[in-house]
Amino acid sequence: MIHTLAIPTPFMVGRVNCYLIEDDPLTLVDVGPNSGKALDELERALGDLGHRIEDLQRIVITHQHIDHLGLVGILARRSDAEVCALDLLAPVIEDFASDAERNDELAEALMLRHGIPRDVVTALRSVSRSFRAWGGSTKITTRLTDGGELAFAGRTMQVLHRPGHSPSDTLFHDRESGEVIGGDHLIAHISSNPLISRPLGGKSGEPGGGRPRALITYMRSMRETREMDGVSVILAGHGDPVTDHVKLIDERFALHQRRARKISGLIEERPRSAYEIAQSLWGNVAVTQAYLTLCEVLGHVDLLLEEGSVAEREEPGGIVRFRSAA
Ligand SMILES: [Zn+2]
Repeated sequence: MIHTLAIPTPFMVGRVNCYLIEDDPLTLVDVGPNSGKALDELERALGDLGHRIEDLQRIVITHQHIDHLGLVGILARRSDAEVCALDLLAPVIEDFASDAERNDELAEALMLRHGIPRDVVTALRSVSRSFRAWGGSTKITTRLTDGGELAFAGRTMQVLHRPGHSPSDTLFHDRESGEVIGGDHLIAHISSNPLISRPLGGKSGEPGGGRPRALITYMRSMRETREMDGVSVILAGHGDPVTDHVKLIDERFALHQRRARKISGLIEERPRSAYEIAQSLWGNVAVTQAYLTLCEVLGHVDLLLEEGSVAEREEPGGIVRFRSAA
């Protein structure tokens, strides 16, 4: 039996779904952000099902975002549970602070290069630092591999690396029941952001291989998920379960195509930086959510670069503008 525990987060996305697998070992997939309120509600939700935190025997993390992993250190300490994560994700969880710092450095360089004013970049950097308090670290006891298995007394789940929303996104597929625990790979009510982060190797790309192309990586992963047999439901990291993943993925592909065409139109009018594109699409949100919107724009520009309809040029001052290649 898989139970959904919807745990509050201080973030825009709202509650995060953690999943309790009542089996041997008793397993919690994702843990919620590192906050007293999240810990309280998690404890109460476990209690409603007749369990305590100390009863947990295994903790599994789906990906590197703080709303999913923040309490991992506290829960691991209190329960002494085995902690499992994809091998590529393990070093991130083991040293969350330094990984976050390196990701902030990458984000800062990208924002400046794509035209976001320095004062906005500086402000975002301090916001990001304060967010880190909701993260957490622990030693990973079991490193999972892409294509490998996570075994229980009563079920076996296949471990599948599906990067794009983050470099570490991992799905857990019970082929017998058709259930998939999907983290933020697919969310029914919102399109998952292809957030640009440091590549971790494997399908997420190798570090140092140029600007990570998160949306292209994400679409490749969605294509793989679309082809999966024996999927009855994807239990998502936020909101309702996904019951028709093929339909949802097709809708996402259509959305990304529409957005790419819209951006293509803006670039045809005149050369623009990614920041200028974000501003004309989203106005002031391009300032308050500068990194999120930058990742959205760059993701779609990558599709246009790949089809050859757009070219990029670095201008004096080091800012990149995209222009029509037609
Ligand atoms: Zn996420």
